[in-house]
Parts: sequence; C-alpha cells; structure tokens
Amino acid sequence: MIIQFKTPVQEDVVNELRQKLEALPAQVFVIKNHLAAMGVKSYDLTAKEAAAIETVTFDDPSYTLGSRQFQPEDTVIELPHSKIGGNNFTMMAGPCSVESEEHVKRMAKVVKEGGATVLRGGAFKPRTSPYSFQGLGEDGLRFLREAADENDLDMITEVMDVPHVEMVAKYTDIFQIGARNMQNFSLLKAVGKTNVAVGLKRGMSATIDDLLNAAEYIASEGNHNIFLIERGIRTFDNKYTRNTFDLGAIPVLQKLTHYPIIADPSHAVGEWDLVQPMAAAAVAAGAQGEIVEIHDDPEHAFSDGPQALKPKNYLRMTKEVFALRDALANVEGVCRD
Ligand code: PEP
Ligand code: MN
Repeated sequence: MIIQFKTPVQEDVVNELRQKLEALPAQVFVIKNHLAAMGVKSYDLTAKEAAAIETVTFDDPSYTLGSRQFQPEDTVIELPHSKIGGNNFTMMAGPCSVESEEHVKRMAKVVKEGGATVLRGGAFKPRTSPYSFQGLGEDGLRFLREAADENDLDMITEVMDVPHVEMVAKYTDIFQIGARNMQNFSLLKAVGKTNVAVGLKRGMSATIDDLLNAAEYIASEGNHNIFLIERGIRTFDNKYTRNTFDLGAIPVLQKLTHYPIIADPSHAVGEWDLVQPMAAAAVAAGAQGEIVEIHDDPEHAFSDGPQALKPKNYLRMTKEVFALRDALANVEGVCRD
C-alpha cells in the first residue's frame, strides 16, 4: 500500500498510522509526503486519516521504494565532485581493471580532461575464467583512490563479495555491483546497510523488473543512494556486438523509477569503434550519464581491451556526448523534468 498525504503533511496522522501498520505487522517506509506499507493489500481508513490523505493505492509494484508512485521526484546522489540523477549528466570513465599505480594515475588525468567526474576501475574482477587476471585487490583500491583524489574525481569500483564490503567502503565513493552479481541478494543487502552510493548493473539475462527488484533489496536495508546501469543483455545475436544494448530500457526505467539511469556502452557493444555511436544514442535515449572504459594500450590491457577507447577517441566521444546533451537540453519542450 502506498499513501500520499495532503500537504502540509499532518505529522500526528502519519505517526499514528505508522504505529498501527507496524503492529499488523508490516514494514513501513516514509519519504516526504508518501508512506509505503509492504504487503498491505487492504486497509480501512478512519475519518481523521481519510481527511489527511490525498490518495491510497494497493497495486504498488514489488519494487515499491524504487517506484515513482512512492517517490515521484528523481533521486539525486550528491558526491564530493559529482551529482548523479535529475537533470545532471555524469560522465564516468577509466580502465576496466586497475593494472598498476602508474597506469591508473595516467588514465585518471585523461578521464579528467574529458570532463568526467567519476573514475572507474576494478580492483576485484569477476572474470569468466578463473585463470584470467583477478585484480590487484586492496592495492588496486588504494591506487584508484589516490588517482581519483589527485584529479578531484569521485571513484567507482566493483565489490564482489560480502566480506569485502567494509574494506571497499573505506576507499570508494560508489560501489559497483556487477552484472554477474545483480541477484546476489546477500551482497545487495550488505551494501544496503551502508551509506555508500551504489551503481547497480543490469544482469545479462535480467528483465527490467528483475533489476528494479534487485535495487529494492538495497533500498529496503536503508540505502537509497542507488543508480542503475544499462550495460547490455544477452540475446540470440552476439556475433558483432558483445551484448545487445537495450536502449529502450532507459526511458522505460525512467518512467518506472526515480533512480538515475546510467548507460554503459562499453560492455554493451564490446568493440571500441562501436562505443562512440552508442554513447551518443544513449544520450538521445535520455541516459543521465555514461560509464565507459579507456586504455592507452588496449592490445595489452589486462581485461576488456577490445572495447577500451584510446585517450584520443575518449576525448572525442565525451566532446560529442556533452554537445548532444547540451543541444537536447536547449530544445524547448524536450527538456526532461
Ligand atoms: C566491468 O565494469 O568491468 C564489468 C565487469 O562489468 P559487467 O559487470 O557489466 O560485466
Ligand atoms: Mn570491463
């Protein structure tokens, strides 16, 4: 059940209602003038409650906290150097893996030059083969943190396991939950108990509802600083692109949820020369930011070399993306609010 209260909100009614619903028992969440009571499918309002309430709905989706019914306004995540969501556009870039201190620091300068405000890089890598490079671990986290700080950037890095959550949180501004872990519910709950922002990647065979329900696991633990990353899904055709970039998911998600939607064209297409056109397409689809992989020597990258943009191409891509974004924002009536 989701209740929308009339404004100004009568706090005494909200508090009494909350107590009654919690005694049912039901889990209750309140944000501004909305109250959600999980699993409550019928409820008789008293006359006093009815007078204070605008609307009541019992057909809220299972991802109640993430839904627009519960929070109509966009979530905006505020980090030291970035705002993610709403009318902001956030560029995130960096190598797939943190390969060495010197390399990530070199890449961070390029990331900054392109206008990005978030540095990416994996210190714990979820590789298809156990014999592939698995990441530098805590050393990698430290190198990434230093590279970010030296360039006034925020940092996003993947956390793969529950026991690492505390350690990764000491270094990062944003946890990345990878596609392979999107439905690792223990991990989702563990990051949900922190107050570190979370970038949740869509699983490669996850539906839009699966993604929203995965986000709900995080939010239900109290952490609402979540953004969603569309990074392509597996379909019948992966001959020319690594995955199928589900651009349609971007406006669909924006209709269903208040969380920011970030596009990852690098993992979606898997080939560097396809990244630029699809990064542009994601802007047109309304993405509130992008996350891309770069490398100055892709042939020798420790992971995902084929999809890495060389610095020169990254700089061209960001120029194009920012120009497109400005052009769209300046067309009257197209402005997304
Ligand atoms: C990555 O960001 O390098 C990564 C492993 O991404 P995904 O989880 O989307 O495959
Ligand atoms: Mn990668």
